[in-house]
Amino acid sequence: MAVITVSTSKRYELVDVTEDVRVIVKESGVKEGLCNVYAPHATAAITINENADPNIRDDISDALSQLIKEGCWRHDRIDNNAASHIKAAIVGASETIPIVNGELAMGTWQDIFICDFDGPRTRKVIVTVLPKS
Ligand code: ZN
Repeated sequence: MAVITVSTSKRYELVDVTEDVRVIVKESGVKEGLCNVYAPHATAAITINENADPNIRDDISDALSQLIKEGCWRHDRIDNNAASHIKAAIVGASETIPIVNGELAMGTWQDIFICDFDGPRTRKVIVTVLPKS
């Protein structure tokens, strides 16, 4: 298990962590197996999506903001960030990627992102590499 630390600078921000995950997989020496990428946070999530056009990151964030209104939920009475929790729940806390021939089996246009829905703050990404038994 390894931990990547990410600092975000905006309220909503998707940060590409693919290269850090690739290094962890390489250093693990695992040739065939699974790599789990997990965000241990209630208002952050992990997704895999297009890396080529950075607009996609903002489009995903904007689309979720159009779907999930702010300030109208029960939890907003606690710390006013219910929309952040709901977005994180929809996107999900982790992704699992196959490892084939020692590499992440990612498509050409795919990268791994941590989605911070309640930034700016420092986030952790836990990466667990499991060899095929
Ligand atoms: Zn909250």
